[in-house]
Amino acid sequence: MPAGTVITRFAPSPTGELHLGNARTALFNFLLARSRGGRFVLRIEDTDAQRTQEPLLEALCADLSWLGLRWDEGPGQDGPRAPYRQSQRSGLYGPYFERLEREGLAYPCYCSDVELDLARRAQLTAGRPPRYAGSCRELSLAERAAREAQGRRATLRFRMPGGRRIEFEDLVHGAQSFASDDIGDFVIRRTDGSAAFLFSNALDDALMGVTHVLRGADHLSNTPSQLLLLEAVDLPAPRYGHVSLLTGPDGAPLSKRHGAASLRGLAAAGYASAAVCNYLYRVGHSTPQQSLLSLEQMAAGFDPAHLQRANAHFDAAQLRHWQSEWVHGLSVEQAHAWLAPLLPAGITAAQAEAFIAAVLPNVVLAEDVREWRAVVFEETLSFEEPALRAASAAGVEFFAAAAGALPDSVPGESGAAARATLAALERATGRRGAAFFVPLRAALTGRLHGPQLAPLLAAMPVERVRGRLLRFAQAA
Ligand code: GLU
Ligand code: ZN
Repeated sequence: MPAGTVITRFAPSPTGELHLGNARTALFNFLLARSRGGRFVLRIEDTDAQRTQEPLLEALCADLSWLGLRWDEGPGQDGPRAPYRQSQRSGLYGPYFERLEREGLAYPCYCSDVELDLARRAQLTAGRPPRYAGSCRELSLAERAAREAQGRRATLRFRMPGGRRIEFEDLVHGAQSFASDDIGDFVIRRTDGSAAFLFSNALDDALMGVTHVLRGADHLSNTPSQLLLLEAVDLPAPRYGHVSLLTGPDGAPLSKRHGAASLRGLAAAGYASAAVCNYLYRVGHSTPQQSLLSLEQMAAGFDPAHLQRANAHFDAAQLRHWQSEWVHGLSVEQAHAWLAPLLPAGITAAQAEAFIAAVLPNVVLAEDVREWRAVVFEETLSFEEPALRAASAAGVEFFAAAAGALPDSVPGESGAAARATLAALERATGRRGAAFFVPLRAALTGRLHGPQLAPLLAAMPVERVRGRLLRFAQAA
């Protein structure tokens, strides 16, 4: 990629909560800018006025901030490319509309929706791809005047040049070639005078000096039209890269039923933004780095050439993997801060620390702590059926011996003391391996699986441990 300042942008239409697919596009543009010492611009494509509301814009900015994708310029972050809301940029477009019309590169189209629809159907019936039939292309001034006199309102269409090949190098998909004859004249200004998407989107990129656009693959077919349009008004086009779509595991567009539609949903479920970013970084972007990366590290390794062409599938297990990597990379203090809202009130700092040390390896989402909190801190224990059977089957002598070997006092809440206690219990019961650990774990936790026993012992008051052992030390 050539040197020079790289300007990337994320240009969402704020029509709802940020979805994972869009978040990934934003991340890639952010990383591309960071990787080249460039700038990342946030532009809000809010020209579809009925649908855009202030709260949606705020939610979008909050979602991007949660991910850590700080924009160098955009809403709330003024810079030379302002304004950043498309609804405030319409004044910039006038001279370009005028110029295109003056030079005959655009013309008014008076066709009604019904007429356009009929023409489209006729083409489909004839087995041709539907595109504007060109009905208004060659209207004389008198014919236009007649339509105006009937009160017909015109859109403005871009006049596609005939017989052109449009070639460009897509940053993801490589060499592309389109024939202008396959593309119909497209609307650049609606009847109400507002700019249409293809126009405002391309003009804004050019006017903002955007050098690289990474966007969804669904926009690939828009690119030849936008390139011709920019050429017609002598504005520099950015380089485009079309990022494969993120779909559900079934190949359908990602939606709520895949359990991962929105960032909000993931955040509410307890996922850390670092886990989400690490996951998204690897969806359709190959990297040899298998460890949890910071955004800076991701930027250092980001390359559009490593973006894959095939659609990417959402994989909840992978997301969980990165969440788990994040959790297990937390320091004791960080883990404490993260889990603080879920710790029981009134426990000592040492108890909290012992508890966190015991359960953290078994926690992926903060919520997972609830189960172990109940096991460790609540007097009554709920038993899973197989655990109850395993404990009952171990026999009363086993538990009497184990309870008898418990120290009188608290083992000191240290791992070493707890390991020594476990060893003492093992000797007293005369059992080893699974024959020792399975019933012990079952009686102490009501489960067959869970955190390691020694740290759990360290986290539990010794009287509770004794009580749980003695419960099985009496014949039923
Ligand atoms: N507002 C468009 C979208 O969200 C932007 C497309 C683009 O990035 O060029 O799909
Ligand atoms: Zn027309």
